[in-house]
Amino acid sequence: MGTGPQGVSGAVGAPCPRLRGMTEPTQINHWIDGKSYEGHSGRRADVFNPATGEVSGRVALADQSDVDAAVASAKEAFEDWRGTSLAKRMLVIFRFRELLNERKEEMAAIITAEHGKVLSDALGEVTRGLEVVEFACGMPHLLKGGFSEGVSTKVDVYSIRQPLGVAAIITPFNFPAMVPMWFFPIAIAAGNAVVVKPSEKDPSATNFVAELWAEAGLPAGLFNVVHGDKVSVDALLDHEDVKSVSFVGSTPIAKYVYERGTASGKRVQALGGAKNHMVVLPDADLDLAADAAVNAGFGSAGERCMAVSALVVVGDVADPLIAKIKERMATLKTGDGRRGCDMGPLITGAHRDKVASYVQAGIDAGATAVVDGRDPQVDGADGGFWLAPTLFDNVTTDMSIYTEEIFGPVLSVLRVPTYDDALALVNASPYGNGTAIFTNDGGAARRYQNEVEVGMVGINVPVPVPMAYYSFGGWKASLFGDTHAHGVEGVHFFTRGKVVTSRWLDPSHGGLNLGFPTNA
Ligand code: NAD
Repeated sequence: MGTGPQGVSGAVGAPCPRLRGMTEPTQINHWIDGKSYEGHSGRRADVFNPATGEVSGRVALADQSDVDAAVASAKEAFEDWRGTSLAKRMLVIFRFRELLNERKEEMAAIITAEHGKVLSDALGEVTRGLEVVEFACGMPHLLKGGFSEGVSTKVDVYSIRQPLGVAAIITPFNFPAMVPMWFFPIAIAAGNAVVVKPSEKDPSATNFVAELWAEAGLPAGLFNVVHGDKVSVDALLDHEDVKSVSFVGSTPIAKYVYERGTASGKRVQALGGAKNHMVVLPDADLDLAADAAVNAGFGSAGERCMAVSALVVVGDVADPLIAKIKERMATLKTGDGRRGCDMGPLITGAHRDKVASYVQAGIDAGATAVVDGRDPQVDGADGGFWLAPTLFDNVTTDMSIYTEEIFGPVLSVLRVPTYDDALALVNASPYGNGTAIFTNDGGAARRYQNEVEVGMVGINVPVPVPMAYYSFGGWKASLFGDTHAHGVEGVHFFTRGKVVTSRWLDPSHGGLNLGFPTNA
């Protein structure tokens, strides 16, 4: 394999230039028709190493003609791929799985270099993405239709599922490997061609994936990458040859993508933002709950759509629980993700400043800052985008630290007297992505799973991300469209059903009859 589009691969196992400490920003290009593609717009955006604040890359931003080139390549490749036998398609998917597994550490390093999350966390997201690839390896089984013999005299009926064509996949910065992998392994295994538009903030992981696909033997044109901003997203949403759009990002953009994409007749699944509540009942194991709140609140610097940001404490256990959380927070090490720290930097300086401004807004609104992370001690470079974990108590539902998705390491405690108050609070949220309840009372847990209006529920599990063979998705403002990601719903999203009614000519079928056909 040759030197990659942004130089991330080179020979197998070679570290990318930025990981060798090169200071010159790398040119990060699109990947179209099986090769690096510079594009025509002349526009580029800075990509940072959030742990140093340095510009590590310059990513191309696509214009309409670049998107047209990617979609045209995908459309052409699709025509052959849809006719390629399942057995041959699966050989490529299995090979991709093996390559990704062999090189997952390399991919994790690329993620940490542009996203900032600690290496173990980056490896975790690659592993969760790999699980979707493994699920897609079972596509021959998943695509099996039904067959009914003799539904009428000598008439049989069977169902088949066929690929859609060109699928667009538009993804956020916070999981540069896992979120695209929620979609493309299934889309490709089911016979589609894809155009991925990753976040322009950490684009290199997707280019690395493109090279792995090429090495796995995927024909050129089936996996394309266009980098860019709103211009490229709009071009994909309006393109008549794009048949489906899978989007993940903030709620306002998800709503916009859903409305614009469906307006031009596309199938759209648009996963949006979140505000995830963890409810702690008075009978819960407070040590387990404190561990969980810290892990789920501050893992990946709170930049997870399944992060816990609101801790709803029922009854009189708030004081001891907060004391335990505070104790644990004092042991957390914030710093460069390559140095064995617990929590890395935020994605950009602008985002760090925005999150810090929410901390001030919380104080101004009267919440109690139990721990204020704005003056952090870090194991990292001065220029990094640092903010240490912050804990608020006495938060109320009218404060902006509660009403808005902060997407940073800020955990808010809301005190309520009863289970019913906790449930009402969670159900009043406009979001419905994930939630968790901590209790030893099976009846209460069962009641919560039944009554809460949220798509993914954890019982003593703080980040209940479903396995690949279940489907991932929230309710309300956390998902526009009716189809969740991966699992059987993912297979349905990337295929269309067809039902065939068949008979082979037989004299008994002859004769004129203008009546509506019935089963006889
Ligand atoms: P974002 O909405 O800013 O960006 C997502 C994608 O949309 C990116 O590819 C970006 O380039 C593109 N985009 C940005 N502005 C656009 C515009 N005006 N028009 C068209 N496209 C535009 O999100 P982000 O900051 O990258 O990611 C964080 C958000 O994603 C959070 O809100 C988080 O909750 C959400 N998220 C949700 C899930 C989920 O499963 N529900 C998973 C991960 C992240």
